[in-house]
Amino acid sequence: MKKITDFIQVIINEFLSNFVPERVSYEITGGCKKCGKCCNHMYSVDTYTEKEFKIMQFLFPAYRRFYIKGKDEDGNFIFACRLVTPEGLCSDYKHRPRMCRKYPAKRIFYPGKLHEGCGYKVNIKTFDDYLHKQHLDTE
Ligand code: SF4
Ligand code: SF4
Repeated sequence: MKKITDFIQVIINEFLSNFVPERVSYEITGGCKKCGKCCNHMYSVDTYTEKEFKIMQFLFPAYRRFYIKGKDEDGNFIFACRLVTPEGLCSDYKHRPRMCRKYPAKRIFYPGKLHEGCGYKVNIKTFDDYLHKQHLDTE
């Protein structure tokens, strides 16, 4: 069981995530095919227990639309959104949270992958890529 100090750190990280400059950039190409998979099957980076998820929902009302759908084979919670329609569309598109507007994010701290069949493609831009480009630009 995680300590309360760890959970407090999660809350602090949530606040800081709006301000801390992110370090790794990804190149996003393609477009959404409106399959709804990302609204029906998502992971949280920081939430550890159901109780902590409830606290997060209390502190951050935008999360109240999400619920715990189940667990994967590694025991990680799988979340889904109550507002996705059976056709895979967002029923609250105008007011969807920032994380939905930014999906798939160009800058993230943690490894992630798109759903199979997603219309987007993510190309990882590593520091080596950056150096290589610099090298080509100066040739
Ligand atoms: S998984 Fe990809 S294609 Fe499907 S709804 Fe989400 S962003 Fe669009
Ligand atoms: S708010 Fe809309 S876009 Fe965001 S997860 Fe829910 S249904 Fe999908």
